[in-house]
Amino acid sequence: MNQFAVIGGGAVGLSIAYEFARSGCKVVVIERGLCGQEASWAGGGILPAAVFDPKDHAYEKLAGLSAKLHRQWAEELKAATGIDTGYHRCGEIFFKHEAISGDPLTRDLPSLSARGIRAELLSAKALKHLEPNLAIAPADLDDLQVYHTPNSAQIRNPRHLQALKAALLQMGVSVIEQAEVQSFEVKGDYLHAVQTTAGRFVADRFCLAAGAWTSHLTNRLNCTLPVKPIRGQMALLQMEEPLLRNVVHQGGHYLIPRLDGRMLVGSTLEDVGFEKKTTDAAIAQLLQFAKTRLPLLRDASVEKCWAGFRPASPDGYPFIDALPGFANAWVAAGHFRWGLFLSTGTAVLMKQLIQGEDLSLPLDDFRLTRNAESMMPLGRSDR
Ligand SMILES: Cc1cc2nc3c(=O)[nH]c(=O)nc-3n(C[C@H](O)[C@H](O)[C@H](O)COP(=O)(O)OP(=O)(O)OC[C@H]3O[C@@H](n4cnc5c(N)ncnc54)[C@H](O)[C@@H]3O)c2cc1C
Repeated sequence: MNQFAVIGGGAVGLSIAYEFARSGCKVVVIERGLCGQEASWAGGGILPAAVFDPKDHAYEKLAGLSAKLHRQWAEELKAATGIDTGYHRCGEIFFKHEAISGDPLTRDLPSLSARGIRAELLSAKALKHLEPNLAIAPADLDDLQVYHTPNSAQIRNPRHLQALKAALLQMGVSVIEQAEVQSFEVKGDYLHAVQTTAGRFVADRFCLAAGAWTSHLTNRLNCTLPVKPIRGQMALLQMEEPLLRNVVHQGGHYLIPRLDGRMLVGSTLEDVGFEKKTTDAAIAQLLQFAKTRLPLLRDASVEKCWAGFRPASPDGYPFIDALPGFANAWVAAGHFRWGLFLSTGTAVLMKQLIQGEDLSLPLDDFRLTRNAESMMPLGRSDR
């Protein structure tokens, strides 16, 4: 039979299923609700500029691999399903970059340049030329810290998820929705079956990819996985036409322009458990940031606001590894701020790991046995 079961239908789980199905495996995706409705829907879809350099740290290599794969997958998914994922190279502009607590993807100008990622300081004139609608205070340019990464891209993540699901169905993958995994049947070091709200599923191999909820599953398999939810709030503004081309960052806030004129404004980093709600204070702060940086947004109507749960590990690195004590179970979770971006590379690595193929990059920093707790602590922010 050789059935491969993926638990969790977010970007990470669907991408792993896609990679396995393409290699001819029989795959089932088991999802508690509907696929792609949690963090992977809530996210912004920014795909940072990245290159694969063998000298880099494994995390940066994973970023480089993922960036390359997103370009390919967007084309393949469109050809297979007709769904345009909105992938395009939009660039990013950074006003006075500040490191984000717990985020290992360093994006200050010297780090980007050292890694061979194209990044340019902008003069006032160049910035005005690039984004004429941005409000630029003299203080922004005094110390010349506004810079641009022209090779950053974005996807419309809800469409990317729809395309992945459609491609899976075309390839004969069973996508079982409204099926919450509640318990496991274990025989020795072998995970035999899962019991869900929609019945029992037997498989030969399992991958747990349940985002911020993955530790709820591993706990039942005697494995403590330090992944917890970090809430992010987002507002979607409606405009008739695009006001920006580039994603614009300032501190932890950002503006993501969609090609149809919509503007996403993000975000917060809140350690509040699974409390899925937006707060008036956070949304007001996001809107104030947006309207200060882009005054033409003052007349924009708010189409929607939402919150989602980033699956965060203590050091910000994902877990991509075998489940301790099991011969046929693996974990892919904890991608924190970059799970949409890193989902493609994670899928390829997971297939290589499970199939015993050569790995595109070393997995040591993504093992469950690494000393994740000793790394950067996640700060609490009420921003
Ligand atoms: C506001 C915000 C902005 C973001 N912006 C970006 C961005 O610009 N770029 C980027 O790369 N990333 C971004 N992220 C991060 C990114 O969204 C996440 O890292 C990524 O979506 C995690 O994917 P996942 O598949 O692991 O988790 P999820 O998408 O949460 O999927 C997990 C799935 O598992 C299912 N599940 C849970 N428990 C069970 C169970 N018991 N049985 C069956 N199924 C179960 C859930 O229902 C869910 O569908 C952002 C996140 C937020 C919140």
